[in-house]
Formats: sequence, C-alpha cells, structure tokens
Amino acid sequence: MATDVVPVLNERIENSFKTNVMRDRRIAQISKRIRDGTATFVDGHDYAERLGENLSKALIQNLNADTLPDGRLYYNIAKRTVTPALENNYNLTNDMAADIQKILDESAGIGLNAVRADFPKERIQGLIDKMTADGITLEEALVWLAEPIINNSEAFFDDFIDSNAKFRNDVGLKATLTRTADPKCCDWCAALAGTYDYDSAPPDIYRRHEFCRCTVTYQSGKKSQNVWNRRSWESSSDELNRRKAIGDNDQGQSAMERIEAAAQIERDRIIQNFMDETGYDRRTAGKATRNKSPAEIQKEINKIRERQRLIQEGGSPRR
Ligand SMILES: [Zn+2]
Repeated sequence: MATDVVPVLNERIENSFKTNVMRDRRIAQISKRIRDGTATFVDGHDYAERLGENLSKALIQNLNADTLPDGRLYYNIAKRTVTPALENNYNLTNDMAADIQKILDESAGIGLNAVRADFPKERIQGLIDKMTADGITLEEALVWLAEPIINNSEAFFDDFIDSNAKFRNDVGLKATLTRTADPKCCDWCAALAGTYDYDSAPPDIYRRHEFCRCTVTYQSGKKSQNVWNRRSWESSSDELNRRKAIGDNDQGQSAMERIEAAAQIERDRIIQNFMDETGYDRRTAGKATRNKSPAEIQKEINKIRERQRLIQEGGSPRR
C-alpha cells in the first residue's frame, strides 16, 4: 500500500500558512487594534479575508504536481487537507470576531456573549466536490484553491455577523446590518450597499461574487444609529452654539479651538450618517458632503438610495 501523503502535506500547509500570517502586516495591525480595544467589524472582515489569502497561498504552494501522487488532487486528499485548513480559518475567525464583539459591547454597555456561527459543512463540501470533479485537471483544481478559498473565508465572518445580529434581534435589541461597498467593486455591490433593519434586509445582503471584498457588519443597541432627521442636525447646531456661549476659559482651550472641535464633531456626524445611509466608504462620504447644506446632502442620499432600490428590484447581479 502506498504511504499516506496527507499528514506530511498538512504539516507543510500549516507551516506555510503560519509563516504567511506572521508576515502579514494587516493582520498584525488588526491584532494590535484588538489588544488596544479599538478594532471594529470592518477590521473583522479584513482579518478573515487575509486569513483566506494566506491559506490560499499555502494550499497552492503545497498541493501541486510535485507533491501530489500522480500529480492529481484526489478526493480523499482534498477532503483531508482543504477541509481542516478551512475549519482552522473558521475557528480563528469566530474567535477574533468574538473579541471584537466584546470590545464593541463594552463601549455600548451591552453584556451579551457572542454566538459562534455554524461551520458551513455543505458549502465547503460543495467546494471539495468541485475541485475533485471527474476529469478535472490539476490546473483547473487549483483555480478552486485561489479566489474561492478567500471568498469562503470572508463568508465565515459574514456568518458570524448574521448569527449575532439574528440573536440580538431575537432577544429584542435593535439590530441593523450595514453592507459597505468596496470602492473598486461593481455596480451591483454599490446598489446593495446600505444600512437595513435586520428583519427587512435584502436577501442578497451576504451574497458575494468572485473577488468581492465588500463588508457586512452589524450594529446593535437600544436606539437606531442610522436615521437622518432634522433633529439630529439641529441638536448638533445647538451643541455648536452652546460651545460658542461657554466662553474662553473652559479646559484651557480658546473659544476658537472649541468651535473648531465642535464643527469637527458635527462634520464627523454628517459623514457617518452619509455612510450609514448609502453604505459608501468614509472618503467618498467625505467628498460627497463637503461644503453642502443638509438639504443638498439629503437630496444626494435620496438619489443614491433610489438608484440602489431600482437596481435591487432589477434582480440578478450585473458583473
Ligand atoms: Zn462587492
């Protein structure tokens, strides 16, 4: 009987993966943000994506014509190398996401534990079946170890988001989902971007096409964070006036400094609202709202949302 190559392959894959992760600067940055208590769910998505990229590289590096018997990726090899490697990404992603969840909950005063998402057994089995389909060449099989490994790793994080948003929605906390379009992504993704109540989120909110790096995050709390209304604008103007009225001797700042600080807070609030309403990233939201009145900004938001609604109703994704 031929010797089983799987243990050796797994050891090599694991070593390559660990080396890749150790050299990954974005992962190091996110780990630091988790330690510092400043990480967000966008970091969580990026972490899962980076784990996917590092694993994909490790698999392609170690499953090839030189290492595989007959130069073929047999089912019983793929099943026992790729599946456990993805399970490892799934575990790392859920652990990391639970850490971020805790950070966010602490600042919101929420005392709930994170829920672990289920491992998507069928989805991963489907992937193994595709890369070991009858008559497939090694080259074709390796294509399934590239982008699909990254895409599935992102989905581990999406599953965490969904499980936890659902849990909080079920226990009566307000939960909203936000899909943020990667600026380099497509029209379909731009249209899907936005913030939605958990119960009325579009069914495609977690859907990803190949090379999609959009993020889905959620917010939970007692009050909605995404509603634009006149009151929020007025209250920030009031805040500005209040600060102007305080005078010069507050906390050693000059009146001018405090007015500037208040204006900056107001500006951040406008940008954040624009991001929540449209799902656009901070830079685009900053540009779109600069030197515009609340009415002009609202008009722009309405226009974008209408466009997003039309494309969503149009059905299938355009790529
Ligand atoms: Zn996308």
